[in-house]
Amino acid sequence: MDKIKMTTPLVEMDGDEMTRILWSDIKEILLKPYIELNTVYFDLGLPERERTGDQVTVDSAEATRQYGVAVKCATITPNAQRVEEYKLSQMWKSPNATIRAILDGTVFRAPIMVKGISPVVKNWKKPITIARHAYGDLYKAVEYQVPGPGRAELVYTASDGAEARETIFDFQGAGIIQGQHNTDASITSFAHACFQYALDTRQDLWFATKDTISKKYDHHFKDIFQEIYDAEYDKKFKKAGIEYFYTLIDDAVARVIRSEGGFIWACKNYDGDVMSDMVSTAFGSLAMMTSVLVSPEGKYEYEAAHGTVTRHYYQHRKGKETSTNPMATLFAWTGALRKRGELDGGADLVRFADAMEAASIATIESGTMTKDLAGLWEGEAPARTVNSTDFLYAIRDELEKRL
Ligand code: NAP
Ligand code: MG
Repeated sequence: MDKIKMTTPLVEMDGDEMTRILWSDIKEILLKPYIELNTVYFDLGLPERERTGDQVTVDSAEATRQYGVAVKCATITPNAQRVEEYKLSQMWKSPNATIRAILDGTVFRAPIMVKGISPVVKNWKKPITIARHAYGDLYKAVEYQVPGPGRAELVYTASDGAEARETIFDFQGAGIIQGQHNTDASITSFAHACFQYALDTRQDLWFATKDTISKKYDHHFKDIFQEIYDAEYDKKFKKAGIEYFYTLIDDAVARVIRSEGGFIWACKNYDGDVMSDMVSTAFGSLAMMTSVLVSPEGKYEYEAAHGTVTRHYYQHRKGKETSTNPMATLFAWTGALRKRGELDGGADLVRFADAMEAASIATIESGTMTKDLAGLWEGEAPARTVNSTDFLYAIRDELEKRL
């Protein structure tokens, strides 16, 4: 069989530790035998970030703007212990934060579902994708500990010097205050990314805030979403047979639990932080959670939601066999290859991505899986726990049946 050709390259961002090992195994066992892989390679592994003064991260994000599609391996975000371990000259910023700042994107997280591993919420039949607005609010807030009696005010000074004031509270004693902000530009980007992704994946879009209480702040989010929807997406959504649905955040959480899934839930920054942990835990395993960053310019960066699985890597370095789950990393590749195919009219690449995902799901459903899943398994076939490499070969056997 001829290998599939790629007309335009993918941006490939390599990473660290156990996921770096899985990364090259996935390429050797599941991709290179079938595809003439055409990638622009960036090594985001910590040693190379150190060597380049983190320029490699910036370059990889710029390349993503140029080529439109990237696939990223998990990377270490350095802390004090890592500075020591890798003899770093400084505590480099999180690569994901750097990339997100350059692409100005929204992150969508969705679980990979298989029969035999059921969500804790028994009526969830389809994935729930969470879109988190990753700018502002609590995460850029300014806080102040009020020492004693006095007036706290919100003051806005326009660039011409004109002042507007609002009393927050007249304190009789000690207390606390906090100032939050967001920008129309960021909320607008967030809204476009959500509407666009809903169209891309043909799923309904839900959005919720606390607009009844926060009549200016949260209400502004609601208004921006509605204006953009009415002006630019209403017709497209109707044509695609999908819906935009706004409700109060309290109502949303109740409906999410009662739903059968199959929609995108757009969340403000804090709601997304908290709800994504709850939803991913309820779906089963962090190792089965995928993530894609979508920029308002329509650039895509695919990755696994989990980290570099350090504990397994230390085992691996001692020469011990590990049973690390490669599913989310593999789905980052299939997501990126499918998108590349869609953008370039490469139908064979899209078919390959579909076949690979189906093969990997079938492998688990037939009872062959990594250790993390074996503990959750409720399927009929007895679970056969394998190491990471044998799992990839089992997927290859399933894939061969489908090509
Ligand atoms: P982690 O790598 O996600 O792993 C936490 C634990 O979750 C693992 O020890 C393992 O549990 C389980 N797990 C996660 N992925 C798994 C998989 N594919 N297969 C099997 N089990 C899996 O999180 P962490 O240990 O907190 O962070 C490690 C490093 O990753 C840190 O340096 C952090 O900065 C980085 N990180 C990067 C990203 C990113 O690049 N997007 C995201 C998060 C964290 P058991 O040990 O119980 O088997
Ligand atoms: Mg969180």
